[in-house]
Amino acid sequence: MSRIAVIGGGIAGCTAAAELAAAGQQILLVEKEDSLGGNIKNYGCKADSLCTRCNLCLVDTVFNEVRENQAVEVTYNTTVVDCLQEKDKFTLITSDLEGEKEVDDISEVVLATGHTRWSELETGTPEIFQDRRIIWASDFEDMLEQRQDQLSGQSLEFDLGFAPESAVFLQCNGSRSLQEKAQYCSRVCCGYNYRIARVLRENFPEMELSMFFIDMQEAGFLVNLSRRDLQEREIAYYNCKPLRLERGEDSLTMHYEDQKSGKMATIETDLLVLSEGIHPGPEHERWARIFNLQQTEDGFLRPIWSPEESKVYLAGTVTSPGDIATTIAKSKTMAYRLLETRQARAEV
Ligand code: SF4
Ligand code: SF4
Repeated sequence: MSRIAVIGGGIAGCTAAAELAAAGQQILLVEKEDSLGGNIKNYGCKADSLCTRCNLCLVDTVFNEVRENQAVEVTYNTTVVDCLQEKDKFTLITSDLEGEKEVDDISEVVLATGHTRWSELETGTPEIFQDRRIIWASDFEDMLEQRQDQLSGQSLEFDLGFAPESAVFLQCNGSRSLQEKAQYCSRVCCGYNYRIARVLRENFPEMELSMFFIDMQEAGFLVNLSRRDLQEREIAYYNCKPLRLERGEDSLTMHYEDQKSGKMATIETDLLVLSEGIHPGPEHERWARIFNLQQTEDGFLRPIWSPEESKVYLAGTVTSPGDIATTIAKSKTMAYRLLETRQARAEV
């Protein structure tokens, strides 16, 4: 029986693989790392006294379905380096720790290789990251993941090397910016950072917290992110991007234009947490070449021909930014579309 190749073992690839396998298809899942998980591998729960609906809880079920389904063969530490298409079948050229191999009898390809975080790209300002007071949201995420049961009541000194009394969250890094070659909204970072701010508020009630937004994007299903919500949690709201950062010995100073008065103003903080936009992966150009796809102006992938014709399906953030719930929903839709096409072909 021919197999469907799913490239990428993150949430999009695993959702597609689980759905397709549940429908009786044989799957080859190609993962470049040594475990499943992709970009969300190190995410932790961001509940405060309430679940903030980050949807991470949905993810383990999907990964377990993939691990436990005999119809899914997962090949780790493996990448696809080329592809030959003849008649109705693909032959994939894969590369693993032992070298290159040909994998034939592949009926369809699902490309679900995800995105790159802005922090993983060259930001042009490496010097600011030598300052331990400036961290990416994902660094914070790592702390949360390691200390899920212990954060309450403890200082952050152990992780950061100092105990901040204030923190500023700066949004839209690597997004909505011509300079950063990403004019789009990454859709996830408002909610992501807001959840981290809520965890801080819950565990460190005395801490001064502030967020700089250009504007607020939905924070995910069922989570209200509004000025009122921020006010209730005593998180100060600044409706702009700071114009300048000054690094003093005792604190960081953000210079910004006050939207009400139109005058320059400043805010000092001990800790600056930077949001991370979603960017196309460095491999997107290669995928476009191998699977006859095109790239949008921003570098994301889109098909030239419909997947019904090309038999190449795209799933998850290879096509555009999206949160966990959206990625799962879109991957399922893609899997159903593939199955329907298969069935329609079989009936001809
Ligand atoms: S915050 Fe996220 S991981 Fe935590 S309980 Fe809610 S959905 Fe689950
Ligand atoms: S989700 Fe929010 S922080 Fe992220 S790019 Fe959009 S507006 Fe900016």
